[in-house]
Amino acid sequence: MHALKMTYHVQCFMCAACKSPIRNQAFYMEEGEPYCERDYEKMFGTKCHGCDFKIDAGDRFLEALGYSWHDTCFVCAFCQINLEGKTLYSKKDKPLCKGHAFAPV
Ligand SMILES: [Zn+2]
Ligand SMILES: [Zn+2]
Ligand SMILES: [Zn+2]
Repeated sequence: MHALKMTYHVQCFMCAACKSPIRNQAFYMEEGEPYCERDYEKMFGTKCHGCDFKIDAGDRFLEALGYSWHDTCFVCAFCQINLEGKTLYSKKDKPLCKGHAFAPV
């Protein structure tokens, strides 16, 4: 197969992270190294901590509690009220609204 204008044996063209051959799977390049889709997402993709789906370019998102969130996913773990721009409390890594911050789990 041809990739990057170089020729690889199929079994030599492998993901730089998990070392599994990429063969005809989708792959992504990062700093000159190929990564399988799964590892690329894991290492370079931004995943929403609320819904666990990827945050696509163009999606509105915010960063809080050390994670990234779709703005629509950044809600209180109890009542689902949107917490964007509100006073934020958190328990473990879950965002909570003021009213539920001290509620027993
Ligand atoms: Zn991989
Ligand atoms: Zn989300
Ligand atoms: Zn709440």
